[in-house]
Amino acid sequence: MLFTDVVKSACGMGQSAMGPFYCSADQRVFIDLGFYNELKNRHNAPGDFAQAYVIAHEVGHHVQALKGTAQKVHAAKARLSKEEANALSVRLELQADCYAGIWAHHADRTRNLLETGDIEEALQASSAIGDDTLQRQAQGYVTPESFTHGSTVQRIKWFKTGLNNGDVASCDTFQTKAL
Ligand SMILES: [Zn+2]
Repeated sequence: MLFTDVVKSACGMGQSAMGPFYCSADQRVFIDLGFYNELKNRHNAPGDFAQAYVIAHEVGHHVQALKGTAQKVHAAKARLSKEEANALSVRLELQADCYAGIWAHHADRTRNLLETGDIEEALQASSAIGDDTLQRQAQGYVTPESFTHGSTVQRIKWFKTGLNNGDVASCDTFQTKAL
């Protein structure tokens, strides 16, 4: 679902400051067009592929919901300290980045979608929606995407892992010792 500024979802009231998110209760990806403008104007991450990456990351969360990964993480987090729960969130988010990379891999191989500079656009967007940026924007509403996402370096690493391997098995961010 596309929105600008405000949207109502089963996950709470969306605000343009919150950026894009996936709401598992609705099984929908919410894409804030205001956030796309911010990517372009404030974070120097313009381009169609930057936008595609954002969608692919959120669809990655949908895949996690279909695979039951999201539910497992959610249940585990309830039993953990805040710090440990955040660490699990990071692994979930980095896996969504890796899934976005898988999408880019196949978009390139099978449909020849990628143009010169596209991967750079995605990486620029990836760093723009890293923790630092998003948490600065979070303003106290329900913000599923304001949780800890991992550092810019980690996000780029996992996007590239998916991109290079094109395969879900390479995205096991939960077992790896080196995030
Ligand atoms: Zn995410």
